[in-house]
Amino acid sequence: MTGVFAGLAGQDAVVAQLSKAASAASALLAGERPEPGAMTHAWLFTGPPGSGRSVAARSFAAALLCPSGGCGDCASCRQVQAGTHADLMLIRPDGLSYGVKQTRDLVLRAAGAPTGGRWRVVLFEDADRCTEQAANALLKAIEEPAPRTVWLLCAPSAEDLVPTIRSRCRVVTLVVPASSAVANVLVTRDGIDPARALAAARAAQGHVGRARRLAVDPSAAARRADVLRVPLQAVSLGPALALAASLVKTAEEEAKAVTEELDEPERDSLRKAFGEGSTGKGVAKAMRGMAGAMKDLEDRQKSRATRVKRDTLDQALLELAQFYRDVLAVQFGADVELATPEADLHKIASTTTPESTLRRIQAIMRCRERLTLNVAPLLAVEEMTLALSTG
Ligand SMILES: [Zn+2]
Repeated sequence: MTGVFAGLAGQDAVVAQLSKAASAASALLAGERPEPGAMTHAWLFTGPPGSGRSVAARSFAAALLCPSGGCGDCASCRQVQAGTHADLMLIRPDGLSYGVKQTRDLVLRAAGAPTGGRWRVVLFEDADRCTEQAANALLKAIEEPAPRTVWLLCAPSAEDLVPTIRSRCRVVTLVVPASSAVANVLVTRDGIDPARALAAARAAQGHVGRARRLAVDPSAAARRADVLRVPLQAVSLGPALALAASLVKTAEEEAKAVTEELDEPERDSLRKAFGEGSTGKGVAKAMRGMAGAMKDLEDRQKSRATRVKRDTLDQALLELAQFYRDVLAVQFGADVELATPEADLHKIASTTTPESTLRRIQAIMRCRERLTLNVAPLLAVEEMTLALSTG
């Protein structure tokens, strides 16, 4: 597969649907009669984390904006990939959610005519994080669409959006891609060695971005190895508590690395926008304005850091749950693809019972739930590792 949809691993049905819509969109612009119903102005991309919701939405945006329908290498396609295309508005929640002001501003800007003469595309990542008022502002825009504006929303599932918005969107459903399809992308796109790509793809269970990180980033692979040590080492109270502390600490370190990478460039570009370092009339006033804007930015960064920390710990818990799912598969002799190195699995599978494996999986799920209820992370994770140690 070539062109803008090349990065969509194992999503053949979605690619067919979007290619058809993009040709219909071109036909509309050319004043021809498109295939009835193929194109519409509001789309909802759903699928499990890592299946490529936002990649699919971004590729579709490129196909709509490209003069040749999504070639993948013209200036327009490259600008869409870089996020700098004048007719593409990429929207991410500032913190934990989209506020009403952010959404209103967006709706206003979205109604403008496209500068490139094709479409104006608004890509809303994590649309499920809209607050209720923000959703209302968004709904109005989708109900009364500007003629050349296309809305692309992304959410884990259609149920994550209010029914009024959901019912006005064409739903695109991504599936969990097969490991072989994910490995194939890593090999062809990123030049990763095939055996390594397949191992990473299996470990990431269809999550393309995570598979790539596991294959290229030694520290990500090391953190995964840390998580997978838990089942073997949580055998009594002492180690269980120590493992809990290290799980939480590792997640915090990883989250810190991720947020620091995002924070500094944001502060930098804000300083530049306010012309820091310049002299002359009005500078003192501008500097006061900057202090306020900087405070806003730092508040948003703080709540994003909280979100990243939570997501990172959750990722570790899901990997742990996946390990026990693999144990269960071995215990039942089920013929499924395993994500975990087999030696560890067989050791645990042969010394425990399926009932205790199920109880352990439940303990992990309970921990995830408690974390969403804002229980202190260390407390929730200690409770879990203790449950894992006793089975
Ligand atoms: Zn192109």
